[in-house]
Amino acid sequence: VTFHADKLRVISGESFSLKQHDAAETFDISKHKAEKELKDHVKQLAELHELLYAENKRALLIVFQGMDASGKDGTIRHVMSGVNPQGCTVTSFKQPSAKELEHDFLWRIHAAVPEKGSIGIFNRSQYEDVLVVRVHGLVPKEIWQARYDQINAFERILAENDVTILKFFLHISRDEQEKRFQQRVEDPQKNWKISPADFREREYWGEYQKAYQDAIANCSTKEAPWYIIPSDHKWFRNYCVSHIIVRTLQSFHMRYPKANPDVAGVKTGGKQTPR
Ligand code: ATP
Ligand code: MG
Repeated sequence: VTFHADKLRVISGESFSLKQHDAAETFDISKHKAEKELKDHVKQLAELHELLYAENKRALLIVFQGMDASGKDGTIRHVMSGVNPQGCTVTSFKQPSAKELEHDFLWRIHAAVPEKGSIGIFNRSQYEDVLVVRVHGLVPKEIWQARYDQINAFERILAENDVTILKFFLHISRDEQEKRFQQRVEDPQKNWKISPADFREREYWGEYQKAYQDAIANCSTKEAPWYIIPSDHKWFRNYCVSHIIVRTLQSFHMRYPKANPDVAGVKTGGKQTPR
């Protein structure tokens, strides 16, 4: 089975059309195969993360965006299940606090960028400021429109300072969202996940798609690419995301640092300082 993650990567923003992406795509990969591979990826990810931590040279920032019920939480839970919590941070961006609103929109984002040696996950991100903010007219058009360039500049600063950025748009269809909302209403264990606000937001589906279209078209850069993840099938979504993260970490060609010379000089079995 050949699966090229590059197919999901937005190369040129100019020709990008969200409408041309099928949320139910699976590229002829079977569920069985995808689930087996995911297990493999999870294992590899744990080892690669350990290397990243040991090397302490760079950070990986993973951004998740998507409509309600697109699976941001579920993806994070599945894909990162093997990762050492030490050296990994997850930040969920909600409505900005009064204090955060006193600053520029990137202030709280920058503060959450992972440090060298670690993986940082954004559950929602700087993109909310050109998505929900636009859809609900929370700031005038001139303000949110200027933010595309500001986001690109910000992401370039990070990339030039050893932060590799992956951006995943978890793409679901309107029907699939409805199905998942319905499950959340019916299943007592999922009830807590749904609120009247979610149904209200659903009314803005078209506006959100437009906002996503523009955000992705304007902010697809070489240093911080967007990946459009077909997410109607959870197993395919998890498989794609884990595959891309593993591939990215492998591309760093990391090595464990050489032993500290002092430690290397100590002979095993020789006289050692008592602990
Ligand atoms: P999710 O729906 O992602 O699982 P949640 O249900 O845990 O999140 P919510 O409070 O529903 O928590 O989601 C956070 C809300 O905050 C979203 O509606 C999001 O659009 C909103 N939000 C995030 N960033 C901003 C921002 N910069 N300005 C305004 N609203 C924002
Ligand atoms: Mg919510």
